[in-house]
Amino acid sequence: MMIVAIASQVRAQLLAEAAAALPAECCGLLLGSAGRVEALVPAANVAADPAHNFEIDPATLLRTHREARGAGHEVIGHYHSHPHGRAEPSWRDAARAVANGQLWLIIGAGRITGWQAGATGMHGCFQPVVLEAA
Ligand SMILES: [Zn+2]
Repeated sequence: MMIVAIASQVRAQLLAEAAAALPAECCGLLLGSAGRVEALVPAANVAADPAHNFEIDPATLLRTHREARGAGHEVIGHYHSHPHGRAEPSWRDAARAVANGQLWLIIGAGRITGWQAGATGMHGCFQPVVLEAA
């Protein structure tokens, strides 16, 4: 099983982002390296129904990819919250998942879980990831 290190400061920031976005889902990008989340880039949730869905602001997406390359960082995945649900992928998440190995962090009910998007696992595409304190 994949193990990803995540600093307690980043963990606290994820929970704060989720709380601040209520009643909507929060979302953003994850910077780091394989096996390590270094930082978050919060983004506006531009979904038509942000209480039940998320869509990362495409401008933030483009800018973050560009800046990360320049700074020697990597966009390793993204995060979003489930204000009304558990910290696990929904069928809605599965419907849009791409089997690209990216890390998904999901915040729900005060918990954070990690998943790797692939071709097997929960809902057919999410492998659980162990999040390790760093
Ligand atoms: Zn979701």
